[in-house]
Amino acid sequence: MSNETIILGGGVSGAICAYYIDKSILITESLGGQIEAKFPMGPRYLHKKIEIHNLLKELNLSLDTKSIKVGYYINGEYIDKINDKLKAEYYSKSRGLTSINKYPDSVLSDGLNNFEVFSIDMKDFYRAIISRISHNRIINKKIEKIDIFNKVLFSNNEFFKYRKLINTIPKDVFLSMCGNFYIGKFFNPITYLFVKSDFDLLGYDYVYFPEMSTSKFHRITKIENGLVFDFAGVLLRSEVLYEAEKFMGTKFEISEMSKNMRAQIIGNDTTSDFEHIVHIGRFAELDHSIKVEDVIKHARQIKNNI
Ligand SMILES: Cc1cc2nc3c(=O)[nH]c(=O)nc-3n(C[C@H](O)[C@H](O)[C@H](O)COP(=O)(O)OP(=O)(O)OC[C@H]3O[C@@H](n4cnc5c(N)ncnc54)[C@H](O)[C@@H]3O)c2cc1C
Repeated sequence: MSNETIILGGGVSGAICAYYIDKSILITESLGGQIEAKFPMGPRYLHKKIEIHNLLKELNLSLDTKSIKVGYYINGEYIDKINDKLKAEYYSKSRGLTSINKYPDSVLSDGLNNFEVFSIDMKDFYRAIISRISHNRIINKKIEKIDIFNKVLFSNNEFFKYRKLINTIPKDVFLSMCGNFYIGKFFNPITYLFVKSDFDLLGYDYVYFPEMSTSKFHRITKIENGLVFDFAGVLLRSEVLYEAEKFMGTKFEISEMSKNMRAQIIGNDTTSDFEHIVHIGRFAELDHSIKVEDVIKHARQIKNNI
């Protein structure tokens, strides 16, 4: 089978690319990607940016916005500001970074304590995009190998020729399928714990916990029916339950745990970049600052250049 442009990966990045680049085929192992996790680990917010506003409008979705309140839990108290010493402690705790020249772009590094987002649920946003892509442009297949010289993708029982390839799957997976041997560590894992609870974070939507001595988690996010705790690294179930119980001072009804081995990006590789391959999305580009609005911008640029 031969196609001009193939998009690899059907998470939010691949769906956005397929929406804008209409003469393309989307090949994915499954639809949704990180959005379809058991409980919302991320992406959590559609930031109030013009690119997202325009896409929501095109999709006839609600343009309602809301404000997200961010706090910092320091010395047993919830506060609105953080100093540079604690920022450094936070990055060391959450990413294992002991010395950094520049803090990664984030709400914390900007010292913000609120920002505006669109109220629409991320899953509804994703499903609206997918519903605009005709079924015959979506192929549900896991790609196992890539021949970048002859421009062919192989699944177990089929092959797909392309002229241009837009990759949205994590770059390490992509490189390993190209048969490249690479040395390097690209990611740090995060263990997430979901606790069903009406525990109130004093009105904050999420709170950072920069101090090493307070807890092993570095962030708690309030979601519709509970809390999500973020712990750097791979932790045991007993460990995360102990930490959550210690903080909440109570037992809880239901909990779920999940690990994302590619949560924090700490490295990149550009030695295998080819002219006919574009990487789009946080994990394909290995750039932690990439959000949905950046993917929209990038996809529109490609559409204009095709
Ligand atoms: C904790 C966290 C919080 C985040 N919060 C935000 C936020 O608030 N706002 C924001 O804008 N962004 C956020 N992001 C960043 C980014 O927008 C999201 O991570 C986004 O969901 C990534 O989507 P993706 O399509 O790039 O990748 P994925 O969702 O990982 O999709 C990859 C797709 O590729 C498919 N695939 C994988 N391997 C193969 C294969 N071999 N063959 C075929 N298909 C394959 C998978 O089935 C999947 O569908 C966050 C990220 C994280 C980790």
